[in-house]
This record gives sequence, C-alpha cells and structure tokens, in this order.
Amino acid sequence: MDEYDVIIVGSGPAGLTAAIYSGRQNFRTLILEKALVGGMGLMVPLMENYPGFDMIAGRKLIEIMKEQALKQSEIKEREEVKLVEPTGDLWRVVTDKGEYTSKTVILATGSKHRLLNVPGEAEFLGRGVAYCATCDGPLFVGRKALVIGGGNAAAQQAIYLDDIGVVVALVHRRDELRAEMYLQDLLKERGIPKIWNSEVMEIKGDQVVQSAVLFNKMSEKKEEVATDGVFIAVGEVPSNQLAADMGVKLNERGGYILTDKNQRTNLRRVYAAGDITGGNNQWVIACSEGAVAALSAYQDLQMEK
Ligand code: NAP
Repeated sequence: MDEYDVIIVGSGPAGLTAAIYSGRQNFRTLILEKALVGGMGLMVPLMENYPGFDMIAGRKLIEIMKEQALKQSEIKEREEVKLVEPTGDLWRVVTDKGEYTSKTVILATGSKHRLLNVPGEAEFLGRGVAYCATCDGPLFVGRKALVIGGGNAAAQQAIYLDDIGVVVALVHRRDELRAEMYLQDLLKERGIPKIWNSEVMEIKGDQVVQSAVLFNKMSEKKEEVATDGVFIAVGEVPSNQLAADMGVKLNERGGYILTDKNQRTNLRRVYAAGDITGGNNQWVIACSEGAVAALSAYQDLQMEK
C-alpha cells in the first residue's frame, strides 16, 4: 500500500495551498479529489479581492495553483475518499479506487450548494435549474434567467450572466441584499432588475424549465414568472460527512469542523482548512488555512521524530 506523509482530501484553494506547502517540505503528498480539481473555486466567475490580481476568474487561478501544486505533489481526480481510520501509527485512507496510508490527513472537503428544496428543483436540474453561472450560463445567452439569493454568490452570478448576454433578474426573499456594496453597485449600474420579498415556491416546465412560481411575502400573492433558467445561489453547507464518520469534532452552529488556530482538529495528525471550517468562504482565507494546516502537520511530525 502506498504510504504518504500527507494526504489532503479536497482540491479547492485550501487543499491546493496545503499541497504546495507540504510538497515544499519534501513531504510525500497526495491530494484526493472526488470530482475535478478546484472544487467551488471553479464556480467563482471573477474575483477582485485576491491579492496580487486586479481581477481573476476562479477557474484561471485554480489552473495556476494546480500547476504549482503538481511540481511537488500528486493529485488524483475522480477518486472519492470513503473512509479514514487509524491503523497503527498511521491513517488508512480508503477510496472508491484504492487504499493508502498516511502519517497525516488534511481535510479540505469544502462546502456544497444549499438546496431550495422546492418542487421542480431536482426534476429540472441540468434542464434549466443550475447552481453555477460560469458552468451553465453560456447555455442561456439571449434567453431569460432568474438568479435566486441575496448574497455575494447570487450577485456575482447575476452580473456574470448579464455580462454574457443573458436576460437576468435577481429574486430575493427580503428587500435588501447581503452582498458586498461593490457588487450591489454593479447590479445597479447594469440595471439588473430585482424581485424583492419573494420566495420560489415551484419551478415548472415541460422537459425544460419554463417558469418559476414566486410568492411575494408583502402582498401575499403568487406570481408565475416565465423563465428559461433558474440559477440557485442561496448559500452553502459544509461537506462534513467524512469528518463526522472519522469522529472529528464539528461545531453545533452548522456542522463545520472545529480547529485550533493552527488548524489542528481534535484528532491526532488530522487538520482541516478552507470552507469546511466555516471560515466565511473567502479564497484568501482558505489559502491561508491550507498553508497553516500543512505547516502544523510538518511541525507535529518533526516534534514526534
Ligand atoms: P450567503 O452569503 O450565505 O447568502 C445566501 C443568500 O441566500 C442570502 O441572501 C439568503 O437570504 C438567501 N437564502 C438562504 N436560504 C434561502 C432559501 N431557502 N430561500 C431563498 N433564499 C435563501 O451565501 P453565498 O452568497 O453563497 O456566499 C457564501 C459565502 O461565500 C459567504 O460568506 C460569501 O461572503 C462568500 N463569497 C464571497 C465572495 C466574494 O466575492 N468575496 C463571492 C462569493 C461568495 P437572507 O439574506 O435573507 O439570509
């Protein structure tokens, strides 16, 4: 069985940074990624607050980071970790394709989209319902789409869709957004319409999405709005199943992994970094947590020598 010094679960900004740091310590390092490298980072249309770049797309930054990580670490994509358990002084990491051991494990499993849980959402997934404007937006150019949500992600998705020529409106359940002011200003500048105080009750169609039924909480009236697409951006929930199965302590306020300030969890030689710790989903914070986790793993192994 292949033995590593560090196995990193997840390859978003936190996992890639952890690999860059731990590879440079000459640690044999492996990233296991159940889908494609980048995680939620791939879904960020444009960032203007990542130091060193005035403006960069998430996909582009992931490409750069992946290349950098690959200089000293291995990455296995489409390989899902199913179990991590102690074996002697090591961790045994079992995936859907194989099995490894490692002295340390860094959990960078990130988060996943919160669902609206309304009729039609699952049924029309990929046929008008989407969670990622950069991935699916181009299919809606010249057509109508609603973006649901009032946070940074919803605002960014609406702006991106408007940019590429989708006829877009934002639907929010309250009458003010929580998105950063610069995004709110961009929404205003572009004249993107907002449908306030409205919740989606149902997504309807025939083969593909044709409309969304909205309930206005002020007027208490239902309205069926014709649309080709519904982009759902109503927040994220932690991907914490693996951590929970391992016995890693999660917080009660949402199931994020509890760590100390050096990214150590309650388990020996297990660390966590990025969105899975609830560190408010900022790219730069995920990177810094990944770096700290890798440095802590290094320090712990040095101390134990
Ligand atoms: P978020 O900030 O948690 O916002 C979620 C939005 O969805 C809120 O406006 C919320 O409404 C709404 N919502 C939640 N559940 C809903 C439901 N069941 N039905 C209808 N609306 C619902 O989530 P996010 O925008 O996905 O962002 C996640 C994190 O990533 C945040 O910390 C965010 O700052 C960060 N992020 C940052 C950037 C950046 O450029 N810096 C970009 C993207 C994301 P209420 O407002 O009424 O609660």
